[in-house]
Amino acid sequence: MENKGILFVVSAPAGCGKDTILNEFFKRNKTAGYAVSATTRAPREGEVNGVHYHFLTVEDFKSKIGAGEVLEYTEYCGNYYGTLKKSVDDLINSGKDAVLKIEVEGAMNIRKKFPDACLIFILPPSLEVLENRLRGRATETEEKIKERTNQAKTELKFAENYDYVIVNDDLNEAVEDMLSVFRAEKLRKQRCEEIIKNISGEKH
Ligand code: ADP
Ligand code: 5GP
Repeated sequence: MENKGILFVVSAPAGCGKDTILNEFFKRNKTAGYAVSATTRAPREGEVNGVHYHFLTVEDFKSKIGAGEVLEYTEYCGNYYGTLKKSVDDLINSGKDAVLKIEVEGAMNIRKKFPDACLIFILPPSLEVLENRLRGRATETEEKIKERTNQAKTELKFAENYDYVIVNDDLNEAVEDMLSVFRAEKLRKQRCEEIIKNISGEKH
């Protein structure tokens, strides 16, 4: 079996439940790690540098791009966000699967660079439920909630470019679905060529 981990990308419009699902997922999957991105946005309350993001100045962010340390980046709501090569390499090379939680444009760029990556899109049960969940989270104004629901409509169109779609209706089911996707991906024939070769080459 291959020793290197698999690169997973998880995307969904804001409020679809990425954080909620991934929090539960990481409690139950110990072979995957979160690849921490860099951003120029300010930390929110409770966010820790190096855990949720590497919080950088615009100058530092740009210098990392110049040094080739960023695999993909995007500007989102006036801030830069980027996947750090080191975050991914450290996980993959230690045999862990790397999970990127990035928006759709970044995901498409990862797909181009890493055709083997597995892309997962999380859908809300409906736009109405999404709007209500955003309202329930109470982190946005009513105007922002409407704006994010509209933005969600645009982002949902990208779902067809992903490998798997998980509908986040019942939370536990969605987490189970995510665990199943990770398990299934490990069994993909293309990732098992080593074991096939070894067994075929055995003498008996
Ligand atoms: P995202 O990370 O995609 O922006 P969150 O994980 O913050 O989304 O979820 C948005 C809101 O929806 C949160 O208040 C969360 O508690 C709630 N939520 C997430 N998943 C579910 C679910 N399956 N059922 C009900 N509420 C949910
Ligand atoms: P937030 O500010 O809510 O943490 O993130 C805003 C958006 O940026 C989310 O959709 C999140 O998934 C995305 N994002 C976070 N890190 C990266 C990254 O490294 N690259 C890209 N392309 N998007 C990211």
